[in-house]
Amino acid sequence: MHPPEPESLDGNNDTGNGQTPQQLRLPRTKDVYVNGVVVKVKYCDTCMLYRPPRCSHCSICNNCVERFDHHCPWVGQCIGLRNYRFFYMFVFSTTLLCLYVFGFCWVYIIKIRDAEGSSIWRAMLKTPASMVLIIYCFICVWFVGGLSVFHFYLMSTNQTTFWRSSALLSPLPRTISELGSQ
Ligand SMILES: [Zn+2]
Ligand SMILES: [Zn+2]
Repeated sequence: MHPPEPESLDGNNDTGNGQTPQQLRLPRTKDVYVNGVVVKVKYCDTCMLYRPPRCSHCSICNNCVERFDHHCPWVGQCIGLRNYRFFYMFVFSTTLLCLYVFGFCWVYIIKIRDAEGSSIWRAMLKTPASMVLIIYCFICVWFVGGLSVFHFYLMSTNQTTFWRSSALLSPLPRTISELGSQ
């Protein structure tokens, strides 16, 4: 968070490092009205635009992302306005798949137990692949299930991961006027 830079009038047009001279720079922030609330939007020097509310510049992708949620290292790009629903469907369907595989591995083991009339441990030893899948799904479901629940909560409360985490880090309570570019 930087305060707006003053419109410098020192007569030195060339900053010497290829940047836009101070006099030619646009004001750092601009007040816009969103649903009757004043929101401060910041200017992005890299993308050369005023960031709309909830837009943020991703340093990894090096561009501004509208309704920025987070930069996902697993899919290698930002999660924002245009791919959030696909991201959520991916995470949610992966959770369902984990639960499905976990559940039906147990069904298979119980079927073996019933067919052979042996103990559950013997049935488990009969199908090591099911045991591997049960352990694998049990570990994975905490990650994808946790993400599904967390993003369901964010969607129901109209928040983004980025805004939520900056709200948690901020010592002051966040207000609607702070929904501007961050
Ligand atoms: Zn930008
Ligand atoms: Zn990114």
